[in-house]
Amino acid sequence: MIKTYKFRAYPNKATEAQTSIILELCRQMYNLALEQRIMVYKQSKKSLTCYDQINQLPEFKKEFPQFKQVPSQAFENVIDRLDKAYQGFFRRIKTGETAGFPRFKGYQRYDSFTLRQCGYKLEKSNLIIKKIGTFKLKLHRSIPSEAKIKTVTIIRKNNKWFICFCCDCIIPKVLTKVNRSIGIDVGCESFLTDSNGLKVENPRFLNKSTERITQLSQKLSKQKMGSNRRKKTRLLLAKKHEKVSNQRLDFQHKVAKHYVKHYDLICHEKMQAFKSFRGLNRSMRDMAWFQFFDILSYKAEEAGRKIVKVPAKNTSQQCSGCGEIVLKDLSVRIHSCPHCKLTLDRDLNAALNILRLGTSLQDPTYLNSSSLVKFNILVVE
Ligand SMILES: [Zn+2]
Repeated sequence: MIKTYKFRAYPNKATEAQTSIILELCRQMYNLALEQRIMVYKQSKKSLTCYDQINQLPEFKKEFPQFKQVPSQAFENVIDRLDKAYQGFFRRIKTGETAGFPRFKGYQRYDSFTLRQCGYKLEKSNLIIKKIGTFKLKLHRSIPSEAKIKTVTIIRKNNKWFICFCCDCIIPKVLTKVNRSIGIDVGCESFLTDSNGLKVENPRFLNKSTERITQLSQKLSKQKMGSNRRKKTRLLLAKKHEKVSNQRLDFQHKVAKHYVKHYDLICHEKMQAFKSFRGLNRSMRDMAWFQFFDILSYKAEEAGRKIVKVPAKNTSQQCSGCGEIVLKDLSVRIHSCPHCKLTLDRDLNAALNILRLGTSLQDPTYLNSSSLVKFNILVVE
């Protein structure tokens, strides 16, 4: 399986300066390539492909000698990213979403580049990159010996540096079977509720930091453009946001780890992609379920656990006791069934439905095998 390892990196002054130059040149190349695409399209109504532009890289280097100091693979990656931006733009047009045309990148708005196969060497905790310099890595975990490094990405974030190694051929660490299944329902009241009745409360990190973030944003808006003080405030604000996102990530890792460790089969709702986050309130954005389910799915894959995504339709409306639909809006927190007199927490009811649906999708004989035969309104896409 493929797995990415991210490490904090400490370049020396010279390496840092050189990497910043490379990032700036990558940004210029991105803008040049974008301009070229637009020009060619205006003149001949033809679209340049990724390959066309990669083939023209040597000519670019002849015309702009400063580009010669950048590893060719880094530039290929720049063209690749531009191509992805175009693909995303056309895909959004197709699906009818609001599609912004790929934009020119402003100064300091290009913060990473990627190398493939060659041009670097990993010696103990030092990453040596040709034409750039040496990064001292903080190896807080080791890359398994069987791993084949596919790409190396150098990232700058709020004056810190990180290196990501994308590795293939990782042998999964399969956990022993425990013969337990679980259904997970995510809601706006608590972060999630599982079918055993466990509620994981939402930590609301953002709420705790909101005051300071608002304070800093207001300060920033009053400061003069381009001033040193503004730069300082911007960095402080970015660091505050970074802290919130790190706390959130840490929390989600811990929750996901718990479920992967204790259950073989984990069922959850298929998440609908929100067209925009604007309509949601802040606490819902703060919970970032997509990120959580991503973490859960890769942890499960590595541990040899199974994830089943069930259609979200009716999971909260159906009674988990008898299968009848009991309509209720979001404000009603208790599910109370007039048919079988079952009364329980709304989210727990949904989690039980999700577990039942997930298990039946996994094994179709499950429904007939038990008293659950009454459920014939199963919704399967
Ligand atoms: Zn019922």
